[in-house]
Amino acid sequence: MSKDISSPAYFNELFAAEGASIGLQITELLHKEQSPYQNIEIYDTTHFGHLMVLDGCIMLTQRENFIYHEMMSHPALFSHPAPKKVVIIGGGDCGTLQEVLKHPEVEFALQVELDQRVTELSEQYFPELCENNNDPRADFYFGDGIRWIEDADEHSIDVIIVDSTDPVGPAEGLFSKEFYRNCHRALKPNGILVQQSESPIFHSDSIIKKMQRDLGASGFNETLVRTFPQPVYPSGWWSCTMGVKTEGKSTLSQKPLRPVSFKTRYYTQPLHEASTCLPAFMLTDQ
Ligand code: SAM
Repeated sequence: MSKDISSPAYFNELFAAEGASIGLQITELLHKEQSPYQNIEIYDTTHFGHLMVLDGCIMLTQRENFIYHEMMSHPALFSHPAPKKVVIIGGGDCGTLQEVLKHPEVEFALQVELDQRVTELSEQYFPELCENNNDPRADFYFGDGIRWIEDADEHSIDVIIVDSTDPVGPAEGLFSKEFYRNCHRALKPNGILVQQSESPIFHSDSIIKKMQRDLGASGFNETLVRTFPQPVYPSGWWSCTMGVKTEGKSTLSQKPLRPVSFKTRYYTQPLHEASTCLPAFMLTDQ
């Protein structure tokens, strides 16, 4: 692979709709290919380690992906009384899977990723995220998560984590009521769905509040939004939205159900609660 980079020495992701961009200084194009599903680029950067870009959108860097992966997994798993069976939809870089496998309660964790090349290239360029891929509790299915959840057995999953790309192209259907209804059906009682729900500053009305309404309309009787910093995603601020399938008292907004028994770099017990504190504009329809 050529070490020449014909573009300027910054990779810039443009958010034309918001008149903004985010850039990282790159030193080398390590890999570029068109998979059957998307354009994949891997760069080395001056300050953020390796960078993965899918269809022009920054997915992760080695420096800061821990924030996103920990917040996509630990609040949901620590809110579930017994998270034995976990399914990750998307998440091909294996970072979320790695965090899920830190929970000793997890007996089986399946990653349902559309694009096998994302996982293969992560094994090569983000090996630290894939160290536990041979854990006997981990399994991999490469295919469309929308179809997979349609065929999933009823009442068979404790936690579903939707770690997808933006709601366009193959990920669009992961943000639909039909998908949420199928997730609700596949979850056991007390089951939790958590989905990355984009930027609070750019997508509060168009995605986050809509997701809460759609989850409610799909049978999830309580929803909860968490926010966290995300230095390389649009606006630098990100969110995940959770829904719980319970007829009794919800545990979503309570303290974590168990102490943290393993090493984390972002998630802490106080952050479990603090990440649910939302600014005024996210609480109302203003
Ligand atoms: N956290 C990242 C972000 O928000 O930028 C996402 C990381 S992960 C690499 C996203 C993955 O979702 C991609 O590898 C993509 O192939 C996968 N994906 C998109 N649509 C999918 C679908 N319908 N089923 C399964 N995986 C899907």
